[in-house]
Formats: sequence, C-alpha cells, structure tokens
Amino acid sequence: MKVILLRFGELYLKGNNRDVFENTLIRNIKDMLKDEHYQFSKTFGRYVVSNFDENRQNEIIKKLKKVFGLYSLSPAEEVTAEPKVISEYVQKISCENQSFKVFVKRADKDFPISSMEFAKQLGELVLNSCKGSSVDLYNPQHEIHVDIRLNKKAYIFDEIIKCQGGLPLGCSGDGLLLLSGGIDSPVAGYLMAKRGMKFEALHFHSYPYTSELAKDKVIKLAKHLTEYMGDIKLHVVSFTKVQEEIHKHCKSEYMITIMRRIMMRVANGLCNKYNLGAIITGESLGQVASQTMQSMTVTGSVINSIPIFRPCIAMDKEDIIEISKNINTYDTSILPYEDCCTVFLPKNPVIKPTIKQAEHEEQFIDVDLLVNECIEGEEIIEVTKD
Ligand code: ATP
Ligand code: MG
Repeated sequence: MKVILLRFGELYLKGNNRDVFENTLIRNIKDMLKDEHYQFSKTFGRYVVSNFDENRQNEIIKKLKKVFGLYSLSPAEEVTAEPKVISEYVQKISCENQSFKVFVKRADKDFPISSMEFAKQLGELVLNSCKGSSVDLYNPQHEIHVDIRLNKKAYIFDEIIKCQGGLPLGCSGDGLLLLSGGIDSPVAGYLMAKRGMKFEALHFHSYPYTSELAKDKVIKLAKHLTEYMGDIKLHVVSFTKVQEEIHKHCKSEYMITIMRRIMMRVANGLCNKYNLGAIITGESLGQVASQTMQSMTVTGSVINSIPIFRPCIAMDKEDIIEISKNINTYDTSILPYEDCCTVFLPKNPVIKPTIKQAEHEEQFIDVDLLVNECIEGEEIIEVTKD
C-alpha cells in the first residue's frame, strides 16, 4: 500500500509535554489536509498517511511540508514486516546501472534477522535483479530504506524529504507581530511561528500620507503567512496623528525613536486587550539607525510586562531575503510603497538615543491620549487562508 511516512523531531525532547505537543501537531496536520481524503495513523515515533488519491500525492506532500514540527517525510510502500514480503518488494525496485545502498532500521526487535544481516541479504537481491547495479556504501546514487516498525509493518522508501522542523504551531503561546510592508517582519513572524508561536499582526499606516496600497500590500503579506499558520487577525492602526504631533512638537532627530516607542506602547495595549503574550518585530542589529543597541534599549524600555522577540536580530539581510523567498513573501515585500516610518523622515535620526532624552521629548505631546486613540480607532481585518 502506498503511504506517506511522517517523522517528527524535537518532540522527543519534551518529556512531560510530549502529549500536548503531539496532539497539537496531529491537529495541525489534519487542519492542513482538511480538503484531502486520506487516513491517518500513529505508530510509535512515526505517523502514516494512507488511502489517499495517488494523483494528489504531490499536493499532499506540499501541504505537509508547511506543518511546523514535522521533521521529514517519505513516500513509501507499506508491507507486512516479514522477511519474505519485504524481499519480494525490494526485488522489484529498479536500480539498473546504478550504485545503491540498502539501509535497514529495526524498531521491532522481534523481527527475526538483524538489521546488518538483512541489509546484506536485500543488497544481494537487488544486485541479482538489477543489471549493472553495484553496491556503494559511501556515495550511492540510489538509497533503499527499509524501516521496520513496532506495528509489524515495514516501510520501504528511497527518498527522505526535509520538512519545516521547529515546534507545532500553538505550543508556544500567542504573540503580536508588528508587520510592516518590508522584507524583515514577515520573516520574523514566520520564524516565531516555526517555534510554535501563533500571532496576530499589527500594521500602522499614515493615510493619506501613505496610500491605501500600503495596506493592501500588508494584507497580501499576511495572506502568504496564512499558508503556514492559518487565518491571521490583522489590526490596522492609523499613525497619522501621532506622526503629525511628534513632527510638530519633538526634536526631529528623535522623531523615529519616539514613533517607535509609541508603536511599542500601542502594541503593548493591544496585547493586554487581546491577551497576547509577546511582541514580535523584524529588527536586525545595526541595519538602520533605529536598530542599534541603544535604539532598541530606548524603544524597548516602554515595555516591561512582556518580552519583545526579534528573531532576525542576528541575521544578515541576505539570509533574511533567502527565507522571504522561500516563504513567498519576497516578491510582495519589494513592491514599492511608503512605510509610515519613511513619511516625515528626519535627515539625521539619532543613532545613540537615551531614555532620558526620549522622555524629555515626550513631555511635549500627550502620549497616553495618542496611544489610546490608536487602540480605540483600530480596524480589524480577518485575513483568511484560501
Ligand atoms: P521591515 O523589513 O520589517 O519593514 P525594516 O528593515 O524596514 O523592517 P524598520 O522600518 O526600522 O525596519 O522597522 C523595524 C520593525 O518595526 C519592522 O520589522 C516591523 O516589525 C516594525 N515596523 C516598522 N514599520 C511598521 C509599520 N508601519 N507597522 C507595523 N510595524 C512596523
Ligand atoms: Mg520597514
């Protein structure tokens, strides 16, 4: 019977949490495959997807490759774990004019032949049945894997397809992603989701200084992320008045610092309102003036009850771009648009701001009022997975 064999990784490490992790993972797999017909079963340490339409196999694999917590998968043949049955199947594998190696893994120690011995026997069968084949233990062109499980089934496959890895989505709480239209923040969201964190998203716009297109772009970016994490609630907040007030009343080199402190306060307020436990940003150390250590200290200092996660902090732009291409957000991120941060951009933003000076500048505006207006005026958009 044709099946897809699924492996999960880090879950092994989680001791007592193992059940929670596994249940979440299984639920996520089923969510991802909700439009497919198939059967799902568990055998210790593996999951098996079976009874699906073979024409849908590639589509099903594509979906499974988006499930966090799955480590790898293999399209496989499931047979009864008897030496004779396995041998018969292996004999039919075509390896003509190829070098090959047989790998046998035996989770079931009741199986009558040792792994080494059985691999040797199967190797001989292949040598005899495939013209021009040869054994190469170090760099084979064709790998033949036989995985004998405790459920008295053996799985025979020649391909191990790498999946996302990470932890099942939903195991690490809920956060709030500050989602701009740039390259970094969608990647930051993806990376946290890969660590099991679900999130809602927050976008600030400066309409009419920025166009409606900026909002559409962010919706599109969120839509791409739904592929991995299902529906996303997007909070859209107007930042226009905040920027006008800062522009009018604060020193221009502190404009970005104060803006970002207010963004953080609004994010914090929304986290309180919706019971979200962390703020996520796409900041990367040293990328721009607002992303120096000192800047992050000053913006971060307005938040003290929840953590700010910056998964891109130590990454090079090239590496962030590579991920954004893999998760399909890159082409959308590079569409031209104005971020609210670039409107009113000062000529010389301060590179090493201080908390003291930022607090001084904030005396000239009504921070609490501005933050509350942002939160009360939010628009909520449900971005759904197609
Ligand atoms: P990105 O590529 O994510 O836009 P960036 O390199 O352009 O990042 P900044 O513009 O300094 O960097 O923004 C740093 C982080 O602040 C972003 O990654 C994002 O998390 C958040 N941010 C910036 N602008 C906005 C916005 N308009 N709405 C929501 N969050 C924003
Ligand atoms: Mg940006």
